[in-house]
Amino acid sequence: MSPDILPLSAAPASAAPPVPLIDLVEQYESISTEVLAAVQQVLTTQRFILGEGVAAFERQVAAFCDARHGIGCASGTDALILALMALGIGPGDEVITTPYTFFATASSIHRVGGRPVFVDIDPATYNLDPAAVEAAVTSRTRAVMPVHLFGQCADMEPLWRTAVRHNLPIIEDAAQAIGATYRGRQAGVLGTIACFSFFPTKNLGGAGDGGMLTTDDEDLAARLRRLRVHGDVGRYEHIEVGLNSRLDALQAAILSVKLTRLADWTAARQANARRYEELFREYGLLERLVLPQAQTDCGHAFNQYCVRVRSGQRDEALARLTAQQVGCAVYYPKPLHLQTCFADLGYREGAFPESERAAAETLALPIYAELGIIRQERVVQSLAEALGVRSAAPVISLPNMSRKAA
Ligand SMILES: *Cc1c(COP(=O)(O)O)cnc(C)c1O
Repeated sequence: MSPDILPLSAAPASAAPPVPLIDLVEQYESISTEVLAAVQQVLTTQRFILGEGVAAFERQVAAFCDARHGIGCASGTDALILALMALGIGPGDEVITTPYTFFATASSIHRVGGRPVFVDIDPATYNLDPAAVEAAVTSRTRAVMPVHLFGQCADMEPLWRTAVRHNLPIIEDAAQAIGATYRGRQAGVLGTIACFSFFPTKNLGGAGDGGMLTTDDEDLAARLRRLRVHGDVGRYEHIEVGLNSRLDALQAAILSVKLTRLADWTAARQANARRYEELFREYGLLERLVLPQAQTDCGHAFNQYCVRVRSGQRDEALARLTAQQVGCAVYYPKPLHLQTCFADLGYREGAFPESERAAAETLALPIYAELGIIRQERVVQSLAEALGVRSAAPVISLPNMSRKAA
């Protein structure tokens, strides 16, 4: 685009290079030799569906989470659907979940014929408010589906109490939370069945769609393995109707390579989060933002780094950062209880004030492992400008040590 057709509002204030919200190229470059060898290996065998490579990756993910079983499938969405099917959830059944999440959390419940019952979130963590869950249990409740949103585990202890009291299974939507911990345990072993996604932008992302279920329950694992292949128990004997939802061997091969780096990448995301806090302090932004609040004894995996922008300036900040070519996004602008496709559920605006407030106030900033301090400081500087914070610190004010660390 030539400068004379560039809209005025989009003219970058400086010649600094853009900062993407996520950049997968740099990550790929660091592992490309291994990835290509793994892909080559699969192509040599010409075995693409399930097989030993997928089974090995299932064991690796199960071992990573300390779960007994891992069951690969075609996506995180399918993992949720398969989990609900394996638990026998269907028409008339209620599943309690959050409206402040990605669409698939609730659509999976709808897809099996169940009814999503929304309850509000805890504004500090954006995760399900456990007291609201307990209050929403009815005689038709069949499961609770907490989401470990943005990579921080839901407050599980009170949810376990509710689950035990009412004899309900817990399905973890851990799509954003591989590598997150709760009291020393991994996301993936905090409920009856857990669901992971390998969508490319998740912390463990494939070269396309992919998903995984983990469980300690032998019978559920067997049923999940059957449900992902049309309910086939072998030799074209179908004892129930399932899906066609497999993890393919190419994805498993690539993901196996990436899994060996996951702990390092998660640590880098956590280091970036700490550095944001330093930079926000330095730039006088701490009074203007609410930072992600890591809960005691929780390891936040930071699939997203979402700040709350105070005093109704979120959309303005979003527009200004975008104009400066600083990647940012809103997760999620419309809570699920207000989505047109769920109008039949009968929820109105105002039903879940904390979810609605979060949808209006949060802004996701770049947090990917390879971000580095130069780009990160540019994000913070642009945000300070966007919010009209004049006391923006000069670039040289940080101690040399922390600058060099990047
Ligand atoms: C990504 C995601 C899903 C769906 O995963 P796909 O692999 O894209 O189908 C479900 N729930 C949450 C919270 C997600 O972030």
